[in-house]
Amino acid sequence: PVAGWQRSLRAQFPIVTGHPGLAYLDSAATSQKPQPVLDAVQTYLTTSNANAGRGSYPWANTTTALVEGARERVKEFLGDPEPGRSSVHFTGGTTEGLRSVARDWLADLLADGDEIVVPFADHQANLSPWLEARDLLARRGVRVRVRELPYQESSGDYDPGALAEVVGPRTRFVAATHVHHVYGVDMNVDRIRRVVGPEVPICLDAAQSVGHLPVSTAALDVDFVVFSGHKAMALPGTGAVWSRNLRGPVFRPGGWSGTPNTVGVVSLTAALDWLDTAGTDRIERWTVDLTSRLTDGLARLEAYEVLGCRSSLTAGTEVQRRRSLVTFRHRGIDSRDLGFILFSHGFMVRTDGHCQAGRDAADGSVRVSLHVYNTPREIDELLSTLATLQ
Ligand code: PMP
Repeated sequence: PVAGWQRSLRAQFPIVTGHPGLAYLDSAATSQKPQPVLDAVQTYLTTSNANAGRGSYPWANTTTALVEGARERVKEFLGDPEPGRSSVHFTGGTTEGLRSVARDWLADLLADGDEIVVPFADHQANLSPWLEARDLLARRGVRVRVRELPYQESSGDYDPGALAEVVGPRTRFVAATHVHHVYGVDMNVDRIRRVVGPEVPICLDAAQSVGHLPVSTAALDVDFVVFSGHKAMALPGTGAVWSRNLRGPVFRPGGWSGTPNTVGVVSLTAALDWLDTAGTDRIERWTVDLTSRLTDGLARLEAYEVLGCRSSLTAGTEVQRRRSLVTFRHRGIDSRDLGFILFSHGFMVRTDGHCQAGRDAADGSVRVSLHVYNTPREIDELLSTLATLQ
């Protein structure tokens, strides 16, 4: 039944079914788009394309309703228990979303002598906005100290014990990532709340979790969720910032100051509908199983070194399994060369430093990232190809 469920979903991705000789293994960069998302875009553009928030003719009203409806849809998708208090701001992706939190909210939260805690080895998009905000505030005479959100070597996620040493009475903000984009581990952000207490805003980079697993703002107990729609089946140039109750200056209720990416927003609503129908819990199980299949296979190949904690390599142990991606290097072949070789066999993977801030960034590696359209057969064929390169 699981394989049948997956086959029917995979069949909805024309770019996947249209290229039987190719395996798209780069979904952490951006996902492919299912037919219902393409249809929603086509329908909107051919029946009611107009600008939003202005005009009083039917197409304009429809567009406004679609954009406002999409905000509510994002809240619902994120399991928001209090949609009346929260807000959703549309962006072009996670990078822009995190920048927006830094620019539009953070300055209001901070005073001279305050501290913020940020992860130094996550995606660059979740470090540079906070450093830039600090520098901007410093020019205004507001000194903010940046502390590192610590990781634990053994399991690869954040270290709540070490965080307790970092957090102090002046801690006013914590930035964290839900699923790491190089190591593939769930960073266990729910533990951060227990350390910092109820008052400190936590901003979550959910770029690698939204669309891949159920993301519940209530369960995570965070104040901001920032994600990319384009990694979750929607069009490029889409994303959102969900804010629990902190209203940034960009929110002028009822006021529209620019033209939103209406088509992108329409695609996002269709994508979230599609994901909910498919079931993010089932998508999670499918991709985690595929990732385990790959990490187990890689562990048997001497020539490859998997990045991140070794212990999460073994499926079925108490140490968490990798989510939908795994990053590795060949001990003798340059990663870019390996990428070319793999493409000559039909595999599309990510190579380079993966925009990681610090740590393994410099050396380059190959990242294989999966979504619901990938199959065990693709993994087995990839492993066979990797084995021939030993
Ligand atoms: N954060 C993480 C964890 C990511 O994986 C990515 C995507 N590479 C980003 C941020 C940036 O996302 P976007 O390219 O949509 O801005």
